[in-house]
Amino acid sequence: MRLVKLIANLGYGSRKEIQTAIRHGWVTDREGNRLKADATTAHEDILFDDEPLDPAPGMVLLLNKPVGYTCSTKDSGRLVYDLLPDRFRVRKPVLSTIGRLDKETSGALLFTDDGTFLHRVISPKSEVPKVYEAELDRPLRGDEAALFASGDMMLEGEDKPLRPAELEVLDEKRARLTLHEGRYHQVRRMFAATGNHVNALSRLTIGGLGLDGVAEGEWRLLDEVDKAKIF
Ligand code: URA
Repeated sequence: MRLVKLIANLGYGSRKEIQTAIRHGWVTDREGNRLKADATTAHEDILFDDEPLDPAPGMVLLLNKPVGYTCSTKDSGRLVYDLLPDRFRVRKPVLSTIGRLDKETSGALLFTDDGTFLHRVISPKSEVPKVYEAELDRPLRGDEAALFASGDMMLEGEDKPLRPAELEVLDEKRARLTLHEGRYHQVRRMFAATGNHVNALSRLTIGGLGLDGVAEGEWRLLDEVDKAKIF
C-alpha cells in the first residue's frame, strides 16, 4: 500500500489508478522486475512506465522566472506553475513558491514542498540576502545608496524601518540592490520613494545561489550543495 500512496501523492493518478498500474506491471525497479504494492524499493530505483519517478517529497527547485508569469496557483493568465511539469501542480505535499516575485519581475524563484525549508529561507532570522538588478526610468540622484543603507528608511503605510540594503550603481539608470528582507514590492517601492520608477526588475541571486546554466523559463532541481549555498 505504501507504494500506491507514494505514487498517487506524486500526482500520477488516483490510488485506484495506481493500483491498476501496479497490477498491469507498469511499476518496476531498474532491473525491470514488477513491483507489488507492499514493495519497499528505494524511491530512486522505482520506475513508472519505464521512467524514473518524480523527485521524492522534500524537493527544492530553482526556476528562472520570465516576466509575465504570476506566483499563484489559480490566478487568471500565465502562472509560474505553467513552466513546471503538470504533475508538480497536484503533488502532495503541495509545492509552493518560497516567497514571491511580481508578475513583471524576472529571475530566481525557489519552490519547495518542504515547509521547514521554506520557513528557514524566508525567516528574518536567516537573513538570506537577495540581489536584484533594476533598470530605472530616471538617472539616479546620487543619495540613494546612503538612504537605502541607513536602516531608517520608511516605506509608505509601514511602521517599521527597512533593514539596511546595499546599492551598487552600474550606470546612471541601472543598479543592483541587495535586500536582507522581503516586503511587498520592496524594490519598486524603495525606488518610488526616491522619485524614480523601476522599468525592469530581475532577481539575480538568493543567498549564494545564482541562475548559472538555468535559461529563462527553465528550472532545475537543487541538490544538497546547492541548498547549502542559500544560507
Ligand atoms: N521587490 C519588488 O518590487 N518586486 C519583486 O518581485 C521583488 C522584490
